[in-house]
Amino acid sequence: MSADDAFSEPFGPEYVGPAPEACPNCPCHTRRVCDGFQWQWLRSERPTYSDGTPYEEPCPCEQVAAEPVDRTVLIELDGILRAVPAQYHRSGLLAGRLVTERVFSAESAVLGECPVPVPMGLYRPKTETDPRLIVIDSAGETWVMGFAAQHSLQSYRITGWSLAAGA
Ligand SMILES: [Zn+2]
Ligand SMILES: [Zn+2]
Repeated sequence: MSADDAFSEPFGPEYVGPAPEACPNCPCHTRRVCDGFQWQWLRSERPTYSDGTPYEEPCPCEQVAAEPVDRTVLIELDGILRAVPAQYHRSGLLAGRLVTERVFSAESAVLGECPVPVPMGLYRPKTETDPRLIVIDSAGETWVMGFAAQHSLQSYRITGWSLAAGA
């Protein structure tokens, strides 16, 4: 036994943590796992039946989270405030992002103006986020505007409202 091992069990081998609270909406996870959405689910182990066979039923919380939620987000650009339809993704590749309809124009230093309107992807604010970039959605949640956009695998930067998208 090394000196490090002596410090790795600060409460001693007898310590038993508080029992985790079960998720109220599914039989297979704790509340903490389901509140954390996808990243927690990927890491969590599914429970087993009392005979030891794995619990294979689809988790109802995961199924609900697979559906994006429709929201509206208030965005001001170039002094024009608009309510933009958006979808909040709770799982999948865009997990934790709010993605708007394609109403923005974008530009690339190499390719010039993007030929089509692009969507905006918004993020959760952090404590150091510039408050001028923070907007609010129809559910009362705050988001940070993201100005990076992609089209045909090329990177663009959102520059303003797209005229092509209409009002
Ligand atoms: Zn659950
Ligand atoms: Zn579950």
